[in-house]
Amino acid sequence: MTAANTMTTQAKPAPGRSYLAIPGPSVIPEAVLSAMHRPAPNIYEGELVDMMPGLVADLKRVARTKHHVAMYISNGHGAWEAALSNVLAPGDRVLVLATGRFGHGWGEMATGLGAEVEVLDFGRSGTIDLDQVNARLQADYAHQIKAVMAVHVDTSSSVRNDIAALRDVLKAQDHPALLMADCIASLGCERFEMDDWGVDVMVTGSQKGLMVPPGMAFVFFNDRAEEVRERLPRVSRYWDWRTRAHATEFYQYHGGTAPTHHLYGLRTALDMIHEEGIEQVWRRHTTLARAVWAACEAWEAEGSLRLNIEDRDLRSHAVTALRLQSPHATELRNWVQENLGLTLGIGLGMAAPGEPAWHGFFRLGHMGHVNGHMIMGMLGGIEAGLSALKIDHGPGALEAAARVIGGEG
Ligand SMILES: *Cc1c(COP(=O)(O)O)cnc(C)c1O
Repeated sequence: MTAANTMTTQAKPAPGRSYLAIPGPSVIPEAVLSAMHRPAPNIYEGELVDMMPGLVADLKRVARTKHHVAMYISNGHGAWEAALSNVLAPGDRVLVLATGRFGHGWGEMATGLGAEVEVLDFGRSGTIDLDQVNARLQADYAHQIKAVMAVHVDTSSSVRNDIAALRDVLKAQDHPALLMADCIASLGCERFEMDDWGVDVMVTGSQKGLMVPPGMAFVFFNDRAEEVRERLPRVSRYWDWRTRAHATEFYQYHGGTAPTHHLYGLRTALDMIHEEGIEQVWRRHTTLARAVWAACEAWEAEGSLRLNIEDRDLRSHAVTALRLQSPHATELRNWVQENLGLTLGIGLGMAAPGEPAWHGFFRLGHMGHVNGHMIMGMLGGIEAGLSALKIDHGPGALEAAARVIGGEG
């Protein structure tokens, strides 16, 4: 058996600007890096303290909610735990709708908190079957299910689930369960309408569509979710969203010392998003994703390359999961890394590291601070790698992508 890391290389980085095209952390804009490059600021008064109300308002604008947001110094896993800690008591039942590794991961977090976790597993290359969800909720006439947990974009499979349609299912059954969405990969990339879609709790992190280094996480919640929290007998102090979302003192936003430099980075990133306009941000991601698909579909015509999600309507606009005959995916990643300074994502949750099959999966991140020339560069790099390694692939990929980016696709 080949260990996953025996095929990685120790070569010197390729000269020139490198490009990290993995699905998180994403490319950090120079403006965000510059905003973070400063001496430690005062945390008792001044700019940083004054910045908070605007930051809160602008975060809510990205999430399209008028309700509440709590911030945490953590990664996405912390946001998962924070959200669950505020709505679940041990023994509460939750329904997890899994469409890849991240759905299962969030469910495992709930298990760790003592919840009764029921998983509907829809596999690794498709979306949620709403009829099955409907049937399960219908059978729950005693309303034991307290929350339905779904991932908007599962970054392992690159499926994009229809969160609004899930709310319709809950409505049709008149079921009171909270609807909880993981938007860690999708917020700031994909259309997401928290209030219009009736999402009660949404979690995200700083390091994907929000273009800030890993280290901050956000839990958005509405008044229904807040009522659930108020009825809980006990919420751990550190995760409690109440003081953070309704802070009256600066330290309460962060449960202690603020993530000072992240806040400056986030301020700049939110300015960039709102200057472009959130709807335009979504459109840009859609166009770039279509360019990626056009290239991949051309490559698919000959050889073993396959998109993990066949149906375009179900594909994420932020990440694309692919497969090649093993070990070509690892060979390709290594080649573009060594020769071009281009880093592609490993496969996740498709095969165990160490299994030969593991070397057949890879992923492209196209989230956040990306534009047409970066996407063309990434696709051109892959084309070069496929040719150099003599991996069979169909022709015309770059032309097809260029047509999409040029507005013809
Ligand atoms: C990245 C990601 C996570 C985990 O976030 P971490 O910051 O790595 O803890 C969870 N869910 C989704 C959908 C993700 O893309």
